[in-house]
Amino acid sequence: MRYRSTRGGLSGITSAEAIKMGIAPDGGLFVPDENTTIDMNFIESLVNDTYQERAEKILSFFLTDFEKNELAGCVSKAYGENFSTPDIVPLVSLHEHLHMLELWHGPTCAFKDMALQILPHFMVKSIEKTGEKAKIVILVATSGDTGKAALEGFADVDGTHIIVFYPNGGVSEVQRLQMVTQTGENTNAVAVNGNFDDTQSGVKRIFNDEKICELLEAKGYRFSSANSINWGRLVPQIVYYFSAYADLLRKKSIKPGEKINFVVPTGNFGNILAAWYAMSMGLPVNRLICASNENNILTDFIISGTYDRRREFHKTLSPSMDILISSNLERLLYEVSGKDSNLIRSYMNDLGAKGYYSVNNSIREKIQNVFWAGYSNDEETLACIRSVYGDYGYVLDTHTAVAMDVYDKYVIYTGDLSQTVIVSTASPFKFNQSVARALFGSETEGLDEFELLKLLSEKTGWEIPKGLKDLDKKEILHKTVCEKDKMDETVMKILNL
Ligand SMILES: *Cc1c(COP(=O)(O)O)cnc(C)c1O
Repeated sequence: MRYRSTRGGLSGITSAEAIKMGIAPDGGLFVPDENTTIDMNFIESLVNDTYQERAEKILSFFLTDFEKNELAGCVSKAYGENFSTPDIVPLVSLHEHLHMLELWHGPTCAFKDMALQILPHFMVKSIEKTGEKAKIVILVATSGDTGKAALEGFADVDGTHIIVFYPNGGVSEVQRLQMVTQTGENTNAVAVNGNFDDTQSGVKRIFNDEKICELLEAKGYRFSSANSINWGRLVPQIVYYFSAYADLLRKKSIKPGEKINFVVPTGNFGNILAAWYAMSMGLPVNRLICASNENNILTDFIISGTYDRRREFHKTLSPSMDILISSNLERLLYEVSGKDSNLIRSYMNDLGAKGYYSVNNSIREKIQNVFWAGYSNDEETLACIRSVYGDYGYVLDTHTAVAMDVYDKYVIYTGDLSQTVIVSTASPFKFNQSVARALFGSETEGLDEFELLKLLSEKTGWEIPKGLKDLDKKEILHKTVCEKDKMDETVMKILNL
């Protein structure tokens, strides 16, 4: 399998090269050059497999330049004791046709672990395979979740060093403590006196700073990114859609070939795009339901065909979906346009120059044939957490609650009662303030984040995840604070350049 850029500037690339590069030099995203198809026999062969076996089979379609034993090695390091359940991604049924795919049993309690626990191992292998001698330095700017997941994934992985920058005062106390208590000889977390945009611009400047890159090369280092547009982050996400289907077959909730719905709480369009790739391979899907919060740019796009970023940015209770540029949408447009790079380039130019683009009717219809879109505001999100807890005793985090609420709207609108999987992207304990307030109202007043964790656990009977328990008792290992225009100096100091 070879890869090419969505914008047409590069093709014939191996998966190892695509993973090492992250983004194509023409600004496009790497996509597979050929279509992969599987049949029902293949899906049925997954039914009695472990998650690791399912992962090896599906990854092997895409990472064809990796040996079987190399893939097995990456998989076993990524999905093992670091997850709180041997199932890795349990499928929990709320009623006979509604199921929760829990993607948050990894070390940081959010679904980003599914990709970031395995990406570092792909990266190390990719470096080896492409003859790269340099040690890879990963730079990350984070608004909260990605930073910790990347630190945890790269910690003590040979041949890599990771530096995460987060806005000082701009992340929750739990998120901050998760990062500053990170162990590992090769990890650094740095607070930046500025907001998330300052932090992200700072990281971009360092990537493009020729002087730093030269110094880096002389020392035997090279920059790379763990950004969500890296193919190495997308491909592991395809696995759990097959896994969910195989689990429904095993439970006899569906018959082989029966089409099901997936509801995905969406931000950068990575998770739901992985579902689309699974469907394009032959996974029986009825609808992919794209759930947004008040930053509902994707809802508008799927309904109207116009992607218009000229709108207000909302800070919501589901912060990991507070995004106005859904980068991975570019891959979907490329695929449904019949791989028309010229068209994709013109859309992306319009987005940059005018702030919007409109797709042609054929693309809009192809998207509408598969996707249904809706959104929920904060009030609806909190009400949904309350009602699902009341009905099923099941505790949703704010992101998953957006998905559940949009699903309710979907059922009212369409009357479709197909078997449905809600993709659950975070542990409720990770967003305990909102969840505890939704469920227990005034009882939560005046409590700090750790008291809230305890309250939530005592009242619901759900256990506090290992990664969040005792966070306030762990040693603070990262104390560096830097000014927003001194991030380059901080990197040079850390790496001894
Ligand atoms: C990142 C994230 C999302 C959004 O996923 P995308 O792949 O960016 O669409 C949803 N929920 C949680 C908890 C996340 O961390």
